[in-house]
Amino acid sequence: MLHHLRNLHEDYLRSGLFGIQDGLVSTTGVVVGISIGVEDKAIIILASLVAVSVEASSMAAGQYSSEKAVHQMDKTGKHTDSLITGALIMFFGYLLGGLIPIIPTILVGQPQARFIAVIAALVGLFILGYVKGHIVKVKPLRSAIELFIIGTIATTIGLIVGYLFRI
Ligand SMILES: [Zn+2]
Repeated sequence: MLHHLRNLHEDYLRSGLFGIQDGLVSTTGVVVGISIGVEDKAIIILASLVAVSVEASSMAAGQYSSEKAVHQMDKTGKHTDSLITGALIMFFGYLLGGLIPIIPTILVGQPQARFIAVIAALVGLFILGYVKGHIVKVKPLRSAIELFIIGTIATTIGLIVGYLFRI
């Protein structure tokens, strides 16, 4: 399966991996922060779903326009990828990553859901980092640990902000 991924156009691969990673990191921060700040489960779920869909759209738009600029400057002709496909991969990658911390919030009550969301996100980031390292041929474990640390920092920031603005 990893061999197939290597044959995928590298721009698609980049937007897919980046989308999942960013969806996981920022949505976990949002879920943790909001669930500390408010107790109402419906509000936590609503806020997380709003955040994930707005950000997925914004990331897809960003992917489209930044890749468009890259294509316009490209003189080598290696950018044969479609801008729309790249933007869609970013959108769905982000949604997929974002759903990982949201699903436990829907299924179980707090504070267990928050705990499961953080664990699921960190495990997810570790696996993603490992796969990413494997595909781009850098040390998989190093890449896994790197993403794990990024996830921990984002979650901690969410926690602090949620705690400070608790209502
Ligand atoms: Zn391209």
